[in-house]
Amino acid sequence: MARNVVQFQKGLSEPAYEQQYGTEEQCRAMVIASRWPHGFECPACGATRHCVVTTRNLYQCAKCRRQTSPIAGTIFASTHLPLQLWFRAIYHLTQTKQGISSIELGRRLGVTQTTAWKMKHKLKQVMLERDATKRLNGRVEIDDAYLGGERSGGKRGRGAPGKTPFVAAVETTEEGKPVRLKLRRVTSFCATSIAGFAKRSLDPDCFVVSDGLQCFASVADAGCAHQVVKTGSGPKAARTPAFKWVNTALGNIKAAITGTYRAINSKHVPRYLAEFEYRFNRRYDLAAMIPRLAWAAVRTTPMPYRLLKLAEVYA
Ligand SMILES: [Zn+2]
Repeated sequence: MARNVVQFQKGLSEPAYEQQYGTEEQCRAMVIASRWPHGFECPACGATRHCVVTTRNLYQCAKCRRQTSPIAGTIFASTHLPLQLWFRAIYHLTQTKQGISSIELGRRLGVTQTTAWKMKHKLKQVMLERDATKRLNGRVEIDDAYLGGERSGGKRGRGAPGKTPFVAAVETTEEGKPVRLKLRRVTSFCATSIAGFAKRSLDPDCFVVSDGLQCFASVADAGCAHQVVKTGSGPKAARTPAFKWVNTALGNIKAAITGTYRAINSKHVPRYLAEFEYRFNRRYDLAAMIPRLAWAAVRTTPMPYRLLKLAEVYA
């Protein structure tokens, strides 16, 4: 039997990780290369000539004398933690299929759970913003789902209290192989929120397949074609070939979230979904996720901790 290429794909082993990112110097070099891929450029005057104040890890512009830290204005500056620890957090967040709880991350990094939570959510926010504007195209399987409740059995749990509704959409090839995933929390499964989702997340050329929940007809508002495939209800519905990948992704998300986290605060659901989506969409190159996330992190304006705790993101 052919092995599942994703399941058996090699990530970066711990020894290989240590060799590439094990020292503060290696991590710093990685951040500097991400921030200034064509060499230093002064943020004040644009000059490139500079010297490095090695004792303080600062770049000093030769023209205007301004000193710049390579991590200034990035998530890495917010905690006064060594970059080594940030990179380890990136390693755990990107190389584990199930995600990692802040308690476990804190234990592995030797920091408090609160610090680990902060690091993790800042990184997840980077993941969320990185993929927010990318749209799916081609054939798309779409389904409604909830976190914090079961939808098996006769009653599908739609609209039940305490559950956070979200849309799962998988772009597939013509032959039905999965390409990319989109997971977005919605206020509810009504025509307005699905139309909003479709406009933000689907290209107008999409051919959307759904099980006929009425609100999904609103993908037409974004110019998408829509086909209804009736599935019935119960366990049989989950095996309908038309929805193979959206069902597989949903199964994996629920297993990961119930296995790793005791509970997820509904206001943070978008970031948990973003983390899963980010990993899924880069699943063919696990090792590359480390430099890619570091690269994105130096380019994303950090969300302050205060807002991170409050954030009600519907992106
Ligand atoms: Zn300057």
